[in-house]
Amino acid sequence: MCSELTSLALEHAQHAAPAITHLRWEDTGLTAVRRRTGTPGQRLAAELAESTAHLLADLAVTTIRQCDAYDCVIWFLPTNPRRRWCSAALCGNRMRVARHYQRRRSEKLRTPSTHCRG
Ligand SMILES: [Zn+2]
Repeated sequence: MCSELTSLALEHAQHAAPAITHLRWEDTGLTAVRRRTGTPGQRLAAELAESTAHLLADLAVTTIRQCDAYDCVIWFLPTNPRRRWCSAALCGNRMRVARHYQRRRSEKLRTPSTHCRG
């Protein structure tokens, strides 16, 4: 899934904005804050590259799936293997409403009209 070229690109993006952990004494004690050097664009690319590297190395990556909604482009990590939509409240509800509409429409087309003209 991950080629050597992909791996090198992810490493290159992270090298452009390396992360350094800064220790600070605060009222509550010692805290560690991780900050990146570089321009905002380099920092964003480095964060995305690091997250991508962690995701690709995680076995859960094999369960990532695309949302079943016909007009949705989102991919998600399902918490339940039967989950079909990125969001049950948004895409799931839209698809259920669309299925209901289609069923009602086909029932109306099959039912002969009781109206008589003439
Ligand atoms: Zn969706």
